[in-house]
Amino acid sequence: MRRLITVLTIIALNLIVGGCSEQESKEDIPGWIDRDRLQNVASEPGSWLTGGRDFGETHFSPLTKINDKNANQLGFAWQYFTDTHRGLEATPIFVDGVLYFTGNWGIVFAVDGKTGEEIWTFDPEVPGKWARNACCDIVSRGVAVWQGRVYAASLDGRLFALDAANGEVIWQVDTFPDRTTPYAITGAPRIAGDKVVIGNGGAEYGVRGYVTAYDLESGTQAWRFYTVPGDPRKPFEHPELEMASKTWDPDSRWDIGGGGTAWDSMVYDPELNLLYVGTGNGSPWVQTERSPGGGDNLFLSSILAINPDSGRLVWHYQTTPGDNWDYTATQPIILTELNIDGKRRKILMQAPKNGFFYVLDRVTGELLSAEKYAAVTWASHVDMATGKPQILPQAIYDEEPKFILPSPAGAHNWQPMAYNPNTGLVYVPAMNDPALFEKRENFTFIKGINNQGAHFTEGTITSEIGEFDAADAGGFIVAWDPVKAAPVWKRKLGDFIFHGGILTTAGNLVIQARDDGLLVVYAADTGQVLHQIQTGSSIVAAPLAYIIDGQQYIAVLAGYGGGPFGYFPVGSAVEKYGNEGRLIAFKLGGGDVPLPEELPPLDPIPEPPALTASQEMLDMGEALFVKACGECHWNINGGYPDLRRMSVEVHHAFKDIVLHGQREVQGMAGFSDILSEEQVEAIHSHLIRLSHDAYREQQQEK
Ligand code: CA
Repeated sequence: MRRLITVLTIIALNLIVGGCSEQESKEDIPGWIDRDRLQNVASEPGSWLTGGRDFGETHFSPLTKINDKNANQLGFAWQYFTDTHRGLEATPIFVDGVLYFTGNWGIVFAVDGKTGEEIWTFDPEVPGKWARNACCDIVSRGVAVWQGRVYAASLDGRLFALDAANGEVIWQVDTFPDRTTPYAITGAPRIAGDKVVIGNGGAEYGVRGYVTAYDLESGTQAWRFYTVPGDPRKPFEHPELEMASKTWDPDSRWDIGGGGTAWDSMVYDPELNLLYVGTGNGSPWVQTERSPGGGDNLFLSSILAINPDSGRLVWHYQTTPGDNWDYTATQPIILTELNIDGKRRKILMQAPKNGFFYVLDRVTGELLSAEKYAAVTWASHVDMATGKPQILPQAIYDEEPKFILPSPAGAHNWQPMAYNPNTGLVYVPAMNDPALFEKRENFTFIKGINNQGAHFTEGTITSEIGEFDAADAGGFIVAWDPVKAAPVWKRKLGDFIFHGGILTTAGNLVIQARDDGLLVVYAADTGQVLHQIQTGSSIVAAPLAYIIDGQQYIAVLAGYGGGPFGYFPVGSAVEKYGNEGRLIAFKLGGGDVPLPEELPPLDPIPEPPALTASQEMLDMGEALFVKACGECHWNINGGYPDLRRMSVEVHHAFKDIVLHGQREVQGMAGFSDILSEEQVEAIHSHLIRLSHDAYREQQQEK
């Protein structure tokens, strides 16, 4: 008996010791981040453990080695080439010496943070045709790293758990209901409790938004939360949809899907065990087409607080009821605590497209403030009692076109904002972009291409915009005081609207790169420019800060793209140097960034083939071009082929390329499932007409 007890004791001791040694070895496992480590992130200021560094995704680094006194010595450390030429939007995660991030299509990279050497890459091998479902470039906004695994989603909707040591696939799941509905994923997965959660995009293409949670260990689906109801004549997938459906016309265009896609922001709060999800715009944009009887159309343009264990909704707040303007609430959410009216509150902050900066109590969803951080003409204010905006007549464009601010690009898009607890300010990469909204007559839905139901022209300013000063148009940084609900400083960034996301640090710095290739360092308290570095790349991503061996680095993904990816803005770095994707790291005492070779001048426009099509054919071609092609092919000097410059060979192969996907490998998908031969011919005719106009202009200039 005693002997047995001794044996049992030894076994028990072994189990305990085994447990300990397993505990110790976990620290040696690459990419080992767990809840304890993340909640104690303050004890490792040199790490960057989520897309926004910490649980609250503040995009704040406590590092001070690079600061407002020495920022002028910041220079080049190393660069890593991603071998791509499209938009790069991720903020890398940095843990135990390694940077993990995604590039185009959802390709995953693990790179040595000290040298920039590649450790591994993982290519999900997305078929080129999926590019068609991405409204705004084949981008990806990053990974989640958790307990030795890297979680990442590919553009075509697969979610992967990869071994952080070598990039090998541990499991993968298809997060789409089928392979024909035009969803795409560009967002990063988030870890919420013992689940990994992912959303998707595609509102304009005819989809119904949802987020799905999977078991971290096995990849088994735990729950799916639809962000908009389906046809109320069919059973509701979960109880919240019955309530939501009462805010829609029963005869809504259920066939279009409704939109509401959660394509970017999700943040998990471990203390409250709540997952916050930002949802997207209505589909189509015009509410009278979507839900003719009106209504709030829940849960469009909303912030949802979901219990990740059950998948049940705890509270919701809608920023733009009955959205008409593509005013998504998918913009980055930051969690922190603030003293408001003498009371410590756990709060959530968001600067969605609609131009109001929201502070909510994240325990209850109570609205604490909503003030304009940019020019806004669609609503006068947000009523603090009801939480609803007062929509102005100027914003209703059903009867006649109207100039409205913000534009569908938003007063802020996906680019991360950053919260600095030392200054108490939130730095928002904002924009003032007036747009003429015009309802499309005889709206016809075509699944799989752009179905806005409206048309908008950017940047045209008339007296109709009321008090808006044309000089304020363009991109800017606003430093926002979330306690006073007011701006503290602003910095204009030029006429172009799209610039990079923002990093702020305890060194009293705000760092942002932009379209002209400059990485600009500001004093966080005053907005004074401290230093500028020419990178030779137009940049839209946000930088991060980290430390290895006592050396602090700033790094940023450089690759122009996202929303306006179809053209190169005048005066931008991409116009001069092209668009070679890179991760660039900076350190104190580094030299100049090696600039890419300048692009050669464009070849002259070749003489186009004869224009023989009827006026009717040309009109049809123009309308179809806008719907199906125009998001990529802006036909100005750009990263995408200017189709007014097609060679004789391309004109001959036009049908094979556009209909049959002859150039699918290069990312030009075939449209045979959407367009008929006659429609493609009409598009071709429209392009021949445009080519003639451009050719004539060129010859006259000669
Ligand atoms: Ca949209």
